[in-house]
Parts: sequence; structure tokens; C-alpha cells
Amino acid sequence: MRILFPHLAGLGSRRSAVGSTVRIEAVTGEDPVGCSGCGTLSGRVHSRYRRRLSDTSISGREVVITLRVRRLFCGNSDCGKTTFAEQVP
Ligand SMILES: [Zn+2]
Repeated sequence: MRILFPHLAGLGSRRSAVGSTVRIEAVTGEDPVGCSGCGTLSGRVHSRYRRRLSDTSISGREVVITLRVRRLFCGNSDCGKTTFAEQVP
């Protein structure tokens, strides 16, 4: 995983293969992250959703990558964002 998908290093992941398709489900951790509006750290989860990162192939097999990320509340009352989605490089 680290060699083929270094951008997913540090995330939890689960792999499965069905027929000629390899599915990778990556999830972010539970650590607090900074609000995209003000930088205030938050670990208070509003919701979670999946992003489909890319479809590619390795050795002729289709690879489907999904990333489960959190939408968090910003606790800074001066911030214009009530919630924000965590970002993954
Ligand atoms: Zn904020």
C-alpha cells in the first residue's frame, strides 16, 4: 500500500478484491483537525461521507479508491463556518 498509494499512508484502509476489481476503502483517523476557515482544532463530528478519489488500474485490474472523511463542527463563534470537511493531502 505504501509503495503504490503513498498518499494514503497514515490512513486506515481496507482492501478487497471482487473479480477483476480491487477496492480500497480508506478512512481518516479520529484526531482533531484544524477548521478550514479559522484553524481552530475540532474533533466534534457532524457527519461522515465518502469521496471517490480515483479509478485507476494496476496490472490490468481496475482499482476503485474511496475515502471516508468527517465533517466537523467549528467551535469558534467568530468563525464564518459552522462545519467544515477535513482535508486529506
Ligand atoms: Zn472555524
